Amino acid sequence: MIDNATLLIAIAFSSAALMVALLIGWLNARRETYLAYGSSGIGFVVIAMTVLGLRNGSLDFWLLFTPYALLLTGFGLIYAASRLFRDRSNTVWPAAVVWALAMLALTLPLAFGLTGVGVFNLNAVSAIFMLLCAWEYWLGRRESPVALIANAVLYVLSAASFVACCVMIAIDGQLVLTAMPNNWAERFNSIMSLVGLTGIGAITLTLHHSRAARMHRLEANTDSMTGLLNRRALFDRFERRELPLGTAVLMFDIDHFKQINDRHGHAIGDAVISHLGAVLRSNMRDQDAVARIGGEEFCAVLQPMSVDQAKIIAERIRGDFELSPARLVSGTFPATVSVGVATSGTGESFSSVLNRADNALYRAKDDGRNRVTTATLRLIA
Ligand code: GH3
Ligand code: MG
Ligand code: MG
Repeated sequence: MIDNATLLIAIAFSSAALMVALLIGWLNARRETYLAYGSSGIGFVVIAMTVLGLRNGSLDFWLLFTPYALLLTGFGLIYAASRLFRDRSNTVWPAAVVWALAMLALTLPLAFGLTGVGVFNLNAVSAIFMLLCAWEYWLGRRESPVALIANAVLYVLSAASFVACCVMIAIDGQLVLTAMPNNWAERFNSIMSLVGLTGIGAITLTLHHSRAARMHRLEANTDSMTGLLNRRALFDRFERRELPLGTAVLMFDIDHFKQINDRHGHAIGDAVISHLGAVLRSNMRDQDAVARIGGEEFCAVLQPMSVDQAKIIAERIRGDFELSPARLVSGTFPATVSVGVATSGTGESFSSVLNRADNALYRAKDDGRNRVTTATLRLIA
């Protein structure tokens, strides 16, 4: 068996590598503040482990207090990281409060020379920190169940190892230690620190990468002006698929948009586009797909329904847009939209329905704009 001091130094080395990996992760994605908290938290743990490994079991006040205070500070930051990981808008003050109470529980007995009580308290508050972290990952488990539950389990096991140390100290019953505890619980705790830190660190990095990949995918599929799908995303979703019978395709094009741009400028034109985006969004359900497929052209693909039902929805959107003009710097601004509606026939492709909706849109324009026109039904499959 390797001795505890060697184990502690080994933990310090592996944690230092992890700290650097998290730090690099944060430098590449500054918004992910949990990486900065996690990295600095591990930094404190690294220094604490190194001091613990080097101190040779001395019971001198400063040699006890210094590494333990560093350890608790590290755990406080790691707890803050777990809160921020679950939700970027979470506050970190609960971590600061628990840290302050933990420092009190450590410092008071040590100051009065009650080293047994101090070390007991250290293990107890460490267990609490681990359980709080486990709770955060458990709460966030929906994002990636296997990884986050594994993370929570590692924290619970680390907490169990701290509790085991508490139990051994309590059994010993010494208020003032004559020597540092050296038993199976301490070794279990050291091993759990090694397994826990590296396991949790590796899982955190994996989660960070999958989050970043998800973000990039989302950005690649989103129209930045309206937050709706973009053309590529809509076509990726429907292009190669046969649509279920009766799928409604609605094509929207803002009327006389060139004039809006010419008279009021591009910025106001953009505001009108965003406004139609918002009107569309407020009229759609989760299962509908709405995309901005061109400058001031939008397309919505709705669950199967009759042409008349699709027309009612299109009419509602047209009316909403007309009656709720975009709010601009200089008051409100009237704008209208024309809509072409088509529903899919048996075995009809997306591009074919889209084409018919587009033709209907052209007719709406020809007939005077600010209206909904339905496509002729496609009778032959
Ligand atoms: P119609 O009623 O027939 O649709 O007339 P229109 O003037 O709207 O004609 P059209 O649909 O062809 O006009 C599209 C214009 O939209 C041309 C282009 O300058 C403008 N446009 C395209 N993308 C953007 C954009 O992102 N922002 C702004 N402000 N204008 C855009
Ligand atoms: Mg157009
Ligand atoms: Mg137009």
